[in-house]
Amino acid sequence: MEKKELPRLAFFSFTCCEGCQLVVLSCEDELPDILSLVKIVNFREAMDQKSDVYDIAFVEGSITKAEEVRKLKKIRKNARVVVALGACSSTGGLNCLKNRWPMEEVKKEVYGKDALRSELFATLPTRAIDEIIQVDYYLHGCPISKKEFLNLTTSLLLGKRPDTTNHPVCVDCKMAGNTCVFEKDMTCVGPITRAGCDAICVTYGAICWGCRGLVDNPNTDAHAETLKRHGLTADAVMRKFSLYGTCKTRKC
Ligand code: SF4
Ligand code: SF4
Ligand code: SF4
Repeated sequence: MEKKELPRLAFFSFTCCEGCQLVVLSCEDELPDILSLVKIVNFREAMDQKSDVYDIAFVEGSITKAEEVRKLKKIRKNARVVVALGACSSTGGLNCLKNRWPMEEVKKEVYGKDALRSELFATLPTRAIDEIIQVDYYLHGCPISKKEFLNLTTSLLLGKRPDTTNHPVCVDCKMAGNTCVFEKDMTCVGPITRAGCDAICVTYGAICWGCRGLVDNPNTDAHAETLKRHGLTADAVMRKFSLYGTCKTRKC
């Protein structure tokens, strides 16, 4: 009997810290099973080989250079399914902070007198990948959740549509038994942020900064009022809302 060809997975990285790829590599207990079901053909953090023949492309990082735009379009052409891997890719992530200021100002701040050497620093305003190509699925978070990566990969291999979480972090936070930070004189964007992280930041004593992006139809006006009632100015409210994903307000 002819041996069935395994689905081919490819991982690509654009502008980012590559922390989401590290989460994938940290699945050491599950990776042997996954590797028996798929063939990985691109994964810069783990292997040298490269191929343009793949079925599922996981794309990490935001888009900040013209050459990245070209490469991303080629990936879309080659792949049957494209998954945005992490906040940088899904919403622009922290890289979107750059878009808050005029580009020349940002370049001077970062690169000093060499900033105007465009051949060295030909950077564009940061974009999430779905501002350039169509994306089939999203893995949110900075970094992604290992559990969600495994669930999505399993669903795709089974030919099922992966689940999308669309409740706010507050639900996870209550389930984790946390005391709300608003009761401790702090503020948080959990009420408008897409859950799926088990509210891990609040559980470990921090606040939710919204790394997983907005839920569908977030009530940002109501939450802005709440933040103002807790002492934030309009500017501070905007900053709080836009630490991650200033690039756009996207629904998925
Ligand atoms: S989403 Fe966060 S962890 Fe993932 S690549 Fe971007 S900065 Fe790194
Ligand atoms: S701490 Fe944040 S995420 Fe948790 S319940 Fe309060 S507002 Fe929601
Ligand atoms: S609690 Fe908020 S900032 Fe922390 S991982 Fe979850 S969505 Fe991201």
